[in-house]
Amino acid sequence: MIELARPCRLEVADTADWKSALRERRPNISSNLRPRTLSQIGALVQTEARAQFPHFVFLPIPRTLALMSDTLVVNEVYLSLQGESTFAGLPCIFIRLAACNLRCSYCDTAYAFTGGEKKELPKIIHEVDRLAAPYRAGPSDSQPVNATITQLPLVELTGGEPLVQRNALPLMKALCDAGYTVLLETSGAHDISTVDPRVRRIMDLKCPSSGEVERNRWDNLQHLRPTDEVKFVLGTHEDYAWAHKVILEHNLQRACPLLFSWVHPLAPEQQHSSLKKVPPGQTPISRQELVERIVADALPVRFQVQLHKIIWPPEQRGV
Ligand code: SF4
Repeated sequence: MIELARPCRLEVADTADWKSALRERRPNISSNLRPRTLSQIGALVQTEARAQFPHFVFLPIPRTLALMSDTLVVNEVYLSLQGESTFAGLPCIFIRLAACNLRCSYCDTAYAFTGGEKKELPKIIHEVDRLAAPYRAGPSDSQPVNATITQLPLVELTGGEPLVQRNALPLMKALCDAGYTVLLETSGAHDISTVDPRVRRIMDLKCPSSGEVERNRWDNLQHLRPTDEVKFVLGTHEDYAWAHKVILEHNLQRACPLLFSWVHPLAPEQQHSSLKKVPPGQTPISRQELVERIVADALPVRFQVQLHKIIWPPEQRGV
């Protein structure tokens, strides 16, 4: 919503509308501005419009969201470093949603299974914009990271399992509309076809040692796009053999990037009593053994370590 001077008020529903709305009041307003997010629009419009309209106020709440009363149960929202995936190393705002219907043996976010705070979608967007604001004033505002990432920080929905909550879908859409590069971390146990196509879906395929291998939703494979990523979290030699077989059977390397992540042992305080046990008969694999098997088998996968667990203590939250 743009308010030019009381009681005059113009409402704009998206980023394309604001210039035409303003031109109705000031026909010669600059036309070479290319805003990407609502906070950028706020800064640009304030500069353009303040000289002409002293009482100008920009309210950075998308009209569509302002009309929503939908909520999500959020565990935490914070700015940190993306520790995994092909986006590793880039600044990222994490929206950790509460609840998950799986109980993987290695889960390091069991604290998100319960609790959390109910928040309206516009408030979550506002928090993301607030955390992203320093990047709007810096060099990253004008310099794309690469051909597909035009602004930082990234925004990732994680959990828990984000797709457990229906309103994760409109939240991701709204974040994409606002110009963010949006990532989704999902367990692979839920339908990913309903997610906005602009979202980069990072989908797990649960290996046997997770205790949740039966929960893989194989239908999801047909919905994978080159912008998605499939992640295998491996803790045993049996996991490796299983993942190797699945990749070959489904020709997965043709679908999207494949990530191999070694199971990081849980700290005592992370060992939640509800987690599944590693099934009997499995042999642990070391990080070095995993890498050597990937190389020996010429597997077309990306081995990854969780950067945040190297930078900060592995059990630290909010990083
Ligand atoms: S899918 Fe598994 S690892 Fe992910 S939050 Fe749920 S229990 Fe934890």
